[in-house]
Amino acid sequence: MGYSYDHENIFAKILRGEIPNDTVYEDDFALAFRDIQPQAPAHVLVIPKGPYVTYDHFANEATDAEIIGYTRAIGKVCALLGVAPGHEGAGYRAIANSGNDGVQEVPHLHVHILAGRPLGRMLQRAD
Ligand code: AMP
Repeated sequence: MGYSYDHENIFAKILRGEIPNDTVYEDDFALAFRDIQPQAPAHVLVIPKGPYVTYDHFANEATDAEIIGYTRAIGKVCALLGVAPGHEGAGYRAIANSGNDGVQEVPHLHVHILAGRPLGRMLQRAD
């Protein structure tokens, strides 16, 4: 079964400029903006400009240029946030929630970059 992208999802509307966002970085391949409900002092979402639902959708179907551009944008956002090596307090977590078990709320690929405090262990048991 192929991937199905909903062009009315909230991040598609942000990309079309129909909903405002607090932009941190933008280029031809990616948009990075602050999460509306931050869970850390720095909480930025980095999304590709193309219509991809999940990371595996992007990894399987995006062009080489899109993959390189998006990946470089994540690197640039880390540098802009001051969380790349060399900065005091460096460190962050990159998360791409995908699908039902991943508890993905918005069906447009987004990598959360969380930083600015100790983030605890990666997963806590929910059951
Ligand atoms: P996820 O569960 O990985 O799909 O997370 C979706 C994230 O998008 C959540 O952290 C929300 O707070 C965030 N979010 C939803 N709507 C907006 C918006 N309009 N602007 C910024 N972040 C948003």
